[in-house]
Amino acid sequence: MLTGAFRHSFRRLHSSKLLLTQSSKRRISQGRAIGTDLKGRNALVTGSTSGIGLGIARELARHGANVVLNGFGSAEEVERIRMGISSEFGVSVHFDPANLSSSSQIRQMMSNHTDIDILVNNAGIQYVAPITDFPEEKWDEIIALNLSASFHTCKAVLPNMQRRGWGRIINVASVHGLVASVNKCAYVAAKHGLVGLTKTLALETAETDITVNCINPGWVLTSLVKAQIEVNAAQTGKTFEEAKAAILAQKQPSRQFVKPEELGEVVVFLCSPAAKQITGISLPVDGGWTAQ
Ligand code: NAD
Repeated sequence: MLTGAFRHSFRRLHSSKLLLTQSSKRRISQGRAIGTDLKGRNALVTGSTSGIGLGIARELARHGANVVLNGFGSAEEVERIRMGISSEFGVSVHFDPANLSSSSQIRQMMSNHTDIDILVNNAGIQYVAPITDFPEEKWDEIIALNLSASFHTCKAVLPNMQRRGWGRIINVASVHGLVASVNKCAYVAAKHGLVGLTKTLALETAETDITVNCINPGWVLTSLVKAQIEVNAAQTGKTFEEAKAAILAQKQPSRQFVKPEELGEVVVFLCSPAAKQITGISLPVDGGWTAQ
């Protein structure tokens, strides 16, 4: 039989264990990154119908954020992705079909969504050729999407973030925002430009609860990179698997591809309270590529 004081302590211990169990369960179901809770936050991830953007959108949703998806894809595929994220994580998910090569379509998209707390500028394309063979229209397309689109989305989103008193902007640059590789002049120029845009906006917002950062992935095995591996395999006579191993060995010391969900977790971290004072940085997630 329990004495009064002991019974009281036992009840407290028992109820704190229950609380612990409930909060652990909540953490497991809501998210994996250091308990970050983004419930009630609204995120817009550009280029999120595949690859890295989709991985980031899923991680933000896993941590409770409502998400606006954007990008290309068939209506059925986009609806499957939208419904899948919404039902898996219990958040609201919308899709905006804006082509981000067009400044007027970006302005329209941003005016459709005036409550964005987290903006991830991710949409991007690649073209590989030496400058002497580099088509001028490819230069224009890459600069428009990989750099200018972020200028337009940031210009539109910042007044609303300032009004709401909180905001996180994460620009998906690349190791190619920090170092160059041959035959990628437009991509490297655009990504270095994005790093510069990020630093400038970080300074312009430094006295507010808004942060602006870049993440800089190394190789991630998405359609953008698979296309480059296929070209490499065709040019060198290697199989796809051999060409894959060769491109990793050449640049990425870990010899492993970065995963979209790992980049999603990094984005979640940059939205967490711990990252409040992190602004203007370029964060390599590159298996050691830029350490060399
Ligand atoms: P991906 O091709 O899988 O995805 C690109 C996304 O952008 C898709 O959703 C596509 O529909 C969308 N998109 C393309 N053109 C668009 C347009 N005009 N308007 C709106 N959306 C458009 O490629 P990914 O590898 O996931 O690339 C995403 C970002 O990550 C890019 O900015 C890329 O430069 C960057 N990145 C990729 C790697 C890598 O190794 N894959 C490394 C570093 C940086």
